Amino acid sequence: MHEDPPAHAPAPVLAPASTLPVTLAPPHSISTVERGSFCLARCTCGWSGPARRSRDRARTDAAEHAAAADR
Ligand SMILES: [Zn+2]
Repeated sequence: MHEDPPAHAPAPVLAPASTLPVTLAPPHSISTVERGSFCLARCTCGWSGPARRSRDRARTDAAEHAAAADR
């Protein structure tokens, strides 16, 4: 008669429910809005830039906003 002792395999250490912060800053997704002959940048965070005569200027405003908000 041979009895195997109950195996005492080390149980995997279960980590407690991870509490990773899910409050990541919302990405600054910028779109340009055309208003008449003007163009302004608008961000998903609620920011909107001044009306510009050129879309390039609006894009520059948006880039500056994203850079400033990314810090
Ligand atoms: Zn933004």
